[in-house]
Amino acid sequence: MTYPIADLHCDLLSFISKVPKADPFDPDQIACAFPWLKAGGVRAQVMAIYTDVHPGSMKLASQQAAIFVQLLEDHSETVCRWDAAFQQQLETTEQLGIIASIENAAGIGTATASWKEIYAQFDALLEKVGSLAYISLTHHTENRFGGGNYTEGIGLKEDGKRLLDYLAGKRIPVDLSHTSDLLAEGILHHIDRHHLPIPVIASHSNFRSIWDHKRNLSDEFAQEIIHRGGIIGVNFLRAFLDNEQPERLFEHLIYGYKLHEQAIAFGADFFYTQDFPDSSRHPFYFPLAENASKYPSILEHLSQELSDGQLGKLAYENVFHFYQKLWS
Ligand SMILES: [Zn+2]
Repeated sequence: MTYPIADLHCDLLSFISKVPKADPFDPDQIACAFPWLKAGGVRAQVMAIYTDVHPGSMKLASQQAAIFVQLLEDHSETVCRWDAAFQQQLETTEQLGIIASIENAAGIGTATASWKEIYAQFDALLEKVGSLAYISLTHHTENRFGGGNYTEGIGLKEDGKRLLDYLAGKRIPVDLSHTSDLLAEGILHHIDRHHLPIPVIASHSNFRSIWDHKRNLSDEFAQEIIHRGGIIGVNFLRAFLDNEQPERLFEHLIYGYKLHEQAIAFGADFFYTQDFPDSSRHPFYFPLAENASKYPSILEHLSQELSDGQLGKLAYENVFHFYQKLWS
């Protein structure tokens, strides 16, 4: 049994923007190169516009949005837009559906940007890429909107509230994958308090109950996402699975499945690793999940515990269902 795959997170755009001679068709350069995606049966892929917190972040985000559009224009035999129509005609096409997301709102507003500039940047990015699969307010560090994964005691700031207010009603989910716990709490609280129509997801996060790491979701936040009808993409990075034991990937997937069978999905998080300074992080992925060709063998392994119908939900149906609801 083979399944189409929908995946909630990769960093192909930032790779193309920062690496000289980056080639998204070269499997030796990045684990989510197009040949790997094809080999893995990936039919729908979220491509993050990733920036760190830096004075040039808005410019960099605009560049990555332009790269996204250029992929669609220059490689129409390989990629097409992932929208509601694409989901319904999946069988009739061969291309990979792609949609952009924003990983770190520093790309929408740097520390010194005025709100006029922030709104204009948001509108310009959205117009350029057409639609956004989600926005995460932060990455690892703090920015003007709130505290990232590795900041403690920094939650949702006034600017973060203002950005959420602007996001409301635009059918763009907010992503909790890179929030501090306090920021996640602040986002949920602000949404509830003002009845904001903003869906909540975790695009590429695992579970602290399986592996205790700041990048992973506590059961509390996983349940919040589930109660709100959101989805959770399981991350393939070794550091967030268990540094030593590859098979823990299956435990995260099964755990998520048991929490709620309509919430669990893939968010593999393949990015360019060849220039990463911290040697303790290498290898970034275990061989069983080392590139985007591995989804079928992962599902095959899980077939010991899950039925065909259940595997289909994990592979792509939950993600498609979530976006179908959001876009209809
Ligand atoms: Zn990330």
